Amino acid sequence: MMPADPKLIEAILLACLERNPVDFRKVDDAEVNKVQTAIKRATTERGAAFRYPVTRKHFLCGCLDFTEHLPEEHLIVAYGHRYGNTTDIERVHHVAGDQRRVVVPDYIRAEIRHHFHRSDAEVIVFHNHPRTGNEPEWFYTLKSLLQDLPIASNDDRKELQRHAFNAVGLFRQFFGQGQVLFYLGESGFVKEFRLPPLLPFLEQLNPLNIQQASKP
Ligand SMILES: [Zn+2]
Repeated sequence: MMPADPKLIEAILLACLERNPVDFRKVDDAEVNKVQTAIKRATTERGAAFRYPVTRKHFLCGCLDFTEHLPEEHLIVAYGHRYGNTTDIERVHHVAGDQRRVVVPDYIRAEIRHHFHRSDAEVIVFHNHPRTGNEPEWFYTLKSLLQDLPIASNDDRKELQRHAFNAVGLFRQFFGQGQVLFYLGESGFVKEFRLPPLLPFLEQLNPLNIQQASKP
């Protein structure tokens, strides 16, 4: 049976509204290998730098290949500059988490803030959801209905909201400038998520809450 957890329903609804997964059909294997090598080296506060910038698609493909069969969540953050429709990526940070979550360390938060200062600066935040094999049966049914597409959690979207839905983030989105972009790797796919959590808005619209709020 499927549980009626509002957070889960929210996650599915939003996953359905978002665009298709990243298309990795025309990637250059040498570039992807370069990315994987950098990810392995990027576990210190200094991170790892590329001699020549790599594009966003190659970076994301490297992230997927690196994390696909790992049993825990990994956070991989890339810093670069917007270049047409893509991002030229210059540096990368990598943190390993545990099975269900990965914490964003303070030095990465500071680096994102610092890097984001320039208007063409772009930050790509990738994390993966490992398949543990302990998921309930309904989860797989649900996933197959969604063609196995990645489903960002409520916490994932709260993190997105913190970065993308402030005045600076919205301004840059509107003017096509550099942004902080969020991607999730799951079940062999990488998908961008860009919608904030829905539940706070729905709670505000709930007539019971309005009644309670207007009580003296
Ligand atoms: Zn997540």
